[in-house]
Amino acid sequence: MPQLSPRVLNLKPSVTVAFMNRAKNMKAQGLDVLSFAAGEPDFDTPQPIKDAAIAALQAGQTKYMPTLGDVATRKAIADKFTTENGIPGLTPDHITIGSGGKHSLYVACHVIFDHPPHGEQPHECVLPVPAWVSYAPLVELAGGRIVEVPTTVESGFKATAEQIKAAITPRTRLVILNSPSNPCGTMYTPDELRAIGRVIHEAARTIAPDILVLSDELYEKIIFGEVPHFSIGSMPEIADRVITLNGLSKAYGMTGWRVGYTAMPGEFGLKFTNAMATLQGQMSTNITSFVYPAIRTALTQCAPQVEMMRQAFASRAKVINARLSRIKGVVNAPATGAFYAFPDVSSWFGKTSKGGKPVRNALEMCNAMLEENLLAFVPGEDFGGCGRNHVRISFACSEQQIEKGMDRFEEFLDNLR
Ligand code: GLU
Repeated sequence: MPQLSPRVLNLKPSVTVAFMNRAKNMKAQGLDVLSFAAGEPDFDTPQPIKDAAIAALQAGQTKYMPTLGDVATRKAIADKFTTENGIPGLTPDHITIGSGGKHSLYVACHVIFDHPPHGEQPHECVLPVPAWVSYAPLVELAGGRIVEVPTTVESGFKATAEQIKAAITPRTRLVILNSPSNPCGTMYTPDELRAIGRVIHEAARTIAPDILVLSDELYEKIIFGEVPHFSIGSMPEIADRVITLNGLSKAYGMTGWRVGYTAMPGEFGLKFTNAMATLQGQMSTNITSFVYPAIRTALTQCAPQVEMMRQAFASRAKVINARLSRIKGVVNAPATGAFYAFPDVSSWFGKTSKGGKPVRNALEMCNAMLEENLLAFVPGEDFGGCGRNHVRISFACSEQQIEKGMDRFEEFLDNLR
């Protein structure tokens, strides 16, 4: 029998993608599934963005382009990070463009980590958990080891600067931060991030000279509380240690276009960017060529559409926060950013569903809910830490669907025996 790579055979499939696809398949079979699984806005891509891609396609922009993108588009991204995020010292040469945030993250992980020589310990990645399901597998695939920093629903799932400090060792290569958070739906305040930034600065000068930060800011535009978005890469003392990751998927309704990008300033930022180019040049070369003008249009002309979507998400957050706060045995940290609720449902574990299925954990709850109530949430186990007691509800859908989904959720819980 031929053999396949154990490294890949042992790789955990993405549970977000798995539940999203299951719900989509059931819907395609005509079942009235209410899906809260996909981290995917229900809004279509704004028309000017589509028009820019269509015009480029018609004009014949269909050939290979520079691996990390053309200068005009890298410049538009550098300008965005400079003016909107306050990241100092960026030029187009500090920007990479890849096929979605996940692809850029994959390439970055392989540029930062390596498999340790026989007998040596791996380098470490500090990760506050619960965290998006793909960070740990991608870091581990690249040869790194995850050091989890546990958080709780009571603290809004935020790690403190002291916790981060305690997790850093001489082997630390990376700290991953994600605000607003997938799956938690909460945000760090600028002061909390500054405190973490000071810890990184101190660690770099003392015990962890190789430390870098990867700040995943894919949800920066989707915020609806009092807290403004803050980019840790804007802190001058650590700016040239911070890789800021962003993309068009969430803010512009462009999940299917697959556009992600990174920014890292300074001399080391150039080295990092060139290494990204080398690896991406062997993997995929440039992204789809006629998409570049669409990126420029999104970043420079579509603020009104982004604001319209933000307002809709804010109003949906109100609806779901209110509904979840009234459900018995469910503990929820109100969503303030992104489009996720991540309630603790563990008080219901140990019961049996109406259809006779045991509900001992979040996975069994989500399976039973999908099969019996046609309601798709994502089980929290693979997000790490206390996530095992939680389910993720993506409320990137109409308020009417949220109300109907919450009715089904309550019905499911009411029928547990
Ligand atoms: N990021 C989205 C989610 O968390 C899309 C699926 C994925 O890449 O995980 O649902």
